[in-house]
Amino acid sequence: MHRNHLVDLFSDTKSKPTPGMRRFMMSVEVGDEQKDEDQNVLDLCERVADLLGKEAAVFLPSGTMCNEIALAVHCRPGDEIIVHESAHIMVSETGGPAALAGVMVRGVQGTRGIFDGATLRSAIRPESRYLQQTRLVSVEQTANLGGGAVWPLATMQEVVSVARDAGLILHMDGARLLNAAVASGLSAKDYAGPFDSAWLDLSKGLGGPVGGVLAGTRAFIHEAWRLKQRWGGAMRQSGFLAAAGIYALDHHVERLAEDHDNARALAKGLAALPGLCLTYDAIDTNIVFFDVAGTGRTAEAIVNALKDKGVIMGGGGLFGPTTIRAVTHLGVSRADIDVAIAALRDIVAG
Ligand SMILES: *Cc1c(COP(=O)(O)O)cnc(C)c1O
Repeated sequence: MHRNHLVDLFSDTKSKPTPGMRRFMMSVEVGDEQKDEDQNVLDLCERVADLLGKEAAVFLPSGTMCNEIALAVHCRPGDEIIVHESAHIMVSETGGPAALAGVMVRGVQGTRGIFDGATLRSAIRPESRYLQQTRLVSVEQTANLGGGAVWPLATMQEVVSVARDAGLILHMDGARLLNAAVASGLSAKDYAGPFDSAWLDLSKGLGGPVGGVLAGTRAFIHEAWRLKQRWGGAMRQSGFLAAAGIYALDHHVERLAEDHDNARALAKGLAALPGLCLTYDAIDTNIVFFDVAGTGRTAEAIVNALKDKGVIMGGGGLFGPTTIRAVTHLGVSRADIDVAIAALRDIVAG
């Protein structure tokens, strides 16, 4: 039976602006962002630049555009970039790095979306007139397909130091960087500080409707603006959207800890059910992957059965035929988690 309230654990992108955020969005004065006349856009960019330890930032319509513009500014066609093989850049951006920046993407292995300094070192191409030049390394904090894993600071510093020794540019896909900061107690700057560019997504756990903010040096942001214009990402009175970001930074960061608690509660509840097992031992942040092979059913079948009970999760596809992903966010309460566990219990029992 459908409840009128869906429990939507498909992704934290399903989070919707709260009443307070909506009120704030509608209350602001706006201007033309392309003319630097929108004060909320300017304020948001300054705040994110500070948060990430950078000189400047640019507001973009999506996190994907943050990645793609960064790669195009940093690299030349024919260059190679190194990412984890499960990175969003590699598996979820429609070949954008090849199409837009002309770069080759090399995916390396590592546990839960995280690779170490030695792995990076062995993937860097030697200098040769026959070889593409390794130009950049990108890390994803947190690692989405690694189950929201938080890169340990020491591992990240190792990667930074190998990259610096080899003269590589460092980029951070920080779609969920604030989840990592809240989970670890470190600051966003502790992680992003050494990187040449880094960005935050406003439309994930922060609960904004759209957008990402890409930060770097002033010169980098100047070039990023050129591509924002060229690729049609330059907006006008985008201050309504930037205001959502400002509101999120004021009100929705500390509360990410609730999402992490809820993810752990969900993981604990479902791990106790017959035929279900967690893909990763630890739940670092707000993402739970689990395997349903033990039920003798496919992820798709379980996801469809959940949907009939008003619970939405993502299954199959990119994750594999028997894997399901559930992501907590500000639109999911502890009571919703209990509903989701009860729905799974019914499904695996029947
Ligand atoms: C969601 C996501 C992106 C893309 O962000 P959009 O705002 O959806 O374009 C990039 N990287 C990671 C790790 C993500 O989870």
